[in-house]
Amino acid sequence: MKFLVFIEQRGGKTRKASLEALSLARTLSGGPAAAVIAGKGVSALAKDLGPYGAGTVYVADRDELELYSNKGYVGALDAAAKEEKPDAVLIAATAMGKDIAPRFAARHDVSVLADVMELRLEGDRLVGSRPVYSGKARAEVDCGAAALQIATTRPNVFPAESRPGAEPRVVTLELGEISPRARVVRIEASETKELDVAEADVIVSGGRGIKGPENWPVIRDLQEALGAALGASRAVVDAGWIDHQHQVGQTGKVVSPSLYVACGISGAIQHLAGMGTSKVIVALNKDPEAPIFKVATYGIVGDLFQVVPEVAKAVRAAKAE
Ligand SMILES: Cc1cc2nc3c(=O)[nH]c(=O)nc-3n(C[C@H](O)[C@H](O)[C@H](O)COP(=O)(O)OP(=O)(O)OC[C@H]3O[C@@H](n4cnc5c(N)ncnc54)[C@H](O)[C@@H]3O)c2cc1C
Repeated sequence: MKFLVFIEQRGGKTRKASLEALSLARTLSGGPAAAVIAGKGVSALAKDLGPYGAGTVYVADRDELELYSNKGYVGALDAAAKEEKPDAVLIAATAMGKDIAPRFAARHDVSVLADVMELRLEGDRLVGSRPVYSGKARAEVDCGAAALQIATTRPNVFPAESRPGAEPRVVTLELGEISPRARVVRIEASETKELDVAEADVIVSGGRGIKGPENWPVIRDLQEALGAALGASRAVVDAGWIDHQHQVGQTGKVVSPSLYVACGISGAIQHLAGMGTSKVIVALNKDPEAPIFKVATYGIVGDLFQVVPEVAKAVRAAKAE
């Protein structure tokens, strides 16, 4: 079974979620997979993909691809698919991946197994499992009899495994003229040095239980002790207590860290949709009936203003040992 994996990069850095998809392709195929990367100055990234499972890397390195363009990046994926003739294409289910996969699938008149959390081969068919109804249930999905199978993989669910091995073969793609109908003129990144919750392995989140923005230092203390990213519920984002980039949930970011600590968050279904697949969930809430406890691995019933500083102190003490 031949796999082709779309590799996303931002600012010349490969996204971890794409390396997870690439490692998954290697696991499923039992050998090296092909990868495709698009952008400006991205050729240098190709060799770094070898340890994650790339046997061949198709590179579309063009000035016009410096900023993301749906048509341009799908064009690169398409050109690689024409050369490689894969049976299956994997794309990380990031914001960019969710934009690319449908256009690519429409061009090939096939469907997408979107946002899968499990993917396995049954004969030569890919069978995926994906969350539905905001994570309340899982659906098993496959692509029917399609000749080309496409899946987007949920970030932070599959491991990105680096193994020593041969350098990949690099193939430069000839794309012809790129004439997108819509063009990204510029990207203004927010001036933050904060860890992105979508990429973080540990997240400490705060909700309306923190009472007001002046109390973020209580949550930040634990966040820093754990070396975590800061997450938030929509309630506190809507209240203007913190920027939207921290929001976890159905209309925020979908995360799957090893550890998710929810402080003063009730656990509304729309919040659970964004973090319910975290490996270990610690919930801290003064209400023992709060729905968050239904998904929590560990629950602490108490006032966060007393408990969080104690937990932060204990984490620091444990780390110092
Ligand atoms: C279409 C739609 C999309 C949505 N998308 C999202 C989304 O992406 N993400 C999201 O988070 N929400 C989303 N929501 C909102 C969601 O329904 C909830 O309103 C929201 O998650 C509630 O946030 P919260 O848990 O911080 O606040 P609350 O529900 O008010 O919960 C606060 C919790 O803090 C506890 N608490 C209070 N004081 C303390 C204390 N001193 N110590 C400990 N615990 C304390 C309370 O017991 C309570 O459980 C969406 C809603 C809709 C309709």
